Amino acid sequence: TPYVADDARYSKLDYVRTGRSGLRLPRISLGLWNNFGTDRVLETQRDIVLRAFDRGVTHFDLANNYGPPYGSAEEQFGRIVAANLRPYRDELVVSSKAGYDMRPGPYGDGGSRKYLLSSLDASLDRLGLDYVDVFYSHRPDPETPIDETMGALATAVRQGKALYAGISNYSPEQTAAAADALAAEGVPLLIHQPRYNMFDRKPEAGLFDTLLERGVGSIVFSPLAGGLLTGRYLSGKAPAGSRMAEGRWFTEEALSETYLERVRGLNDIAEARGQSLAQLALTWVLRQPAVTSALIGASSVAQLDDSLDALHGAALSDDELAAIEPLAVD
Ligand code: NDP
Repeated sequence: TPYVADDARYSKLDYVRTGRSGLRLPRISLGLWNNFGTDRVLETQRDIVLRAFDRGVTHFDLANNYGPPYGSAEEQFGRIVAANLRPYRDELVVSSKAGYDMRPGPYGDGGSRKYLLSSLDASLDRLGLDYVDVFYSHRPDPETPIDETMGALATAVRQGKALYAGISNYSPEQTAAAADALAAEGVPLLIHQPRYNMFDRKPEAGLFDTLLERGVGSIVFSPLAGGLLTGRYLSGKAPAGSRMAEGRWFTEEALSETYLERVRGLNDIAEARGQSLAQLALTWVLRQPAVTSALIGASSVAQLDDSLDALHGAALSDDELAAIEPLAVD
């Protein structure tokens, strides 16, 4: 039987304005960086994506090189769209990016117009879409003039291959320069995608202020620190099947005594609130007025459900915030 989305999906979570734009995003969005390559089972990926959509998650975040292998997350998502979500295309906010390494040679990395525009075409092919909703410069490239990189995003918007322009991993100064360069092209900067979580608070030192001043939204990635801010590693060991056990991005060296002390302290605070640690970590990033959406990953429907249930919890009290403060350090 064909997939039919839950009729009640839009009453399940809040959608908030992205900066001063007209686009509203769900407070939690799903990223397909890990767990969505062709090294994993498509059926599990489909279950996660459709469950997210049924629970009101309209926004799915991709990049040219998500996988593994590079490109395969866009292919897998394209398969799910073709089979299940095609009738809902107008209700999806799909993003992609270029800026990190994608292919060998001089045109597969960085911020050149040559790389960004050819990469967007390749992403659209893999996704099987005519346009993405947001196209990002995935990282700043100090060797390429900002006018060239932002000019490429503006071209994508003018060509109708992207509806909005975004940047990721830019400093406050680079963000201001990017916003100015885009404004000169008549294209507003919709959104910034920085890393932000209890163990990485860099955006609090200037970036969030810049975004609020400029009316730019933000979607913060790795709000669970890749799993470190969940119950996954509380025992001090990496469970089978986890990102850490598979040696992707971090190892058991991350599970130091300091880490375990902090995470157990945070877990106690979460328990006292009747929440999981993941839910506390999400509630905490979403307290920031500059944050439009928290961009999570998930390797199972159960993880996704647990994380989305964060949106049912109470706001953090001043006492809880004060108790978190000494434990939420880089
Ligand atoms: P998270 O910090 O949300 O980590 C996700 C991982 O945490 C999951 O894969 C899972 O680990 C574990 N997890 C998630 N939910 C739960 C839960 N409720 N209970 C227990 N464990 C849980 O984010 P990611 O690091 O995955 O990044 C999210 C997205 O952000 C990416 O998909 C991508 O779209 C974007 N991103 C952007 C970057 C950029 O440069 N712009 C860089 C990195 C990410 P496990 O897989 O081990 O089960």
